[in-house]
Amino acid sequence: MKFYNTKILYTSFETHNVKRFILEKPEGYEFNPGQYALIAIDTPELKEETRPFSFTSSKDDSIIEFTIKSYPEHNGVTARLLQLEPGSRLLISESRRMDAYQGPGLFIAGGTGITPFLSILRGLSKTTEGRKELEQSFLLFSNRTERDIIAQKELSFMLGKRARFIVTEPDNEAKPERINEDLMSGILKQSNLSGKPAYLCGPPGFVEEAKKMLISQGVNEKEIFLF
Ligand SMILES: Cc1cc2nc3c(=O)[nH]c(=O)nc-3n(C[C@H](O)[C@H](O)[C@H](O)COP(=O)(O)OP(=O)(O)OC[C@H]3O[C@@H](n4cnc5c(N)ncnc54)[C@H](O)[C@@H]3O)c2cc1C
Repeated sequence: MKFYNTKILYTSFETHNVKRFILEKPEGYEFNPGQYALIAIDTPELKEETRPFSFTSSKDDSIIEFTIKSYPEHNGVTARLLQLEPGSRLLISESRRMDAYQGPGLFIAGGTGITPFLSILRGLSKTTEGRKELEQSFLLFSNRTERDIIAQKELSFMLGKRARFIVTEPDNEAKPERINEDLMSGILKQSNLSGKPAYLCGPPGFVEEAKKMLISQGVNEKEIFLF
């Protein structure tokens, strides 16, 4: 597999434990929205330690962005990434994953599972044709608390009422919500997406549960794409 050596240009916190990394785009580097790359930190002791991360920039941006949650308790790559400053160098593989975006549909994300969808939705928001596709799409985005929600303002701006945010353990008075049959049937009715693809991304248990519910609500398994 081919790896490219690239430089971190900028970093910022997206939430308390999720950081955005803006990287120089290597010459000739290409990816499609929804794809991911293997990333390693370019130091002698860490360059073999690759981990998968989805692109969150859109295909035609002049930079590459990743949005990465850090797990200090793993003492692994994401803990090290958290400490990196602009100027540090990363190795990124060529882009991976075959079937990514299949057209407007229902996006269901849990936590950092939003990342491949950010690339897709950001790309769509840039063209008139794409914005029409956004109007025919719906996002259901579940997080533990409000503090954990990545890019909430931007997603609300792009999708308006077609973005629904739920939290399972709210910090405030808000009602805890989980993805269940009632919620899913309401979303399917509200989004009017019959026959359109459903895209799922998040922790394995979350994805399995959401998939089961979609199928029990009559969504064809062939129209469900797991990221
Ligand atoms: C296709 C794909 C795309 C992804 N895209 C993104 C993305 O865009 N953004 C994002 O944030 N994440 C993404 N992820 C998840 C991301 O790859 C992992 O969070 C990352 O690999 C974790 O790396 P790590 O080295 O920090 O920890 P790990 O590799 O998970 O663990 C390092 C070590 O810590 C130990 N460990 C594991 N779990 C625990 C635990 N619970 N407590 C203590 N120790 C533990 C293990 O022994 C392991 O050796 C993606 C995953 C996939 C498969």
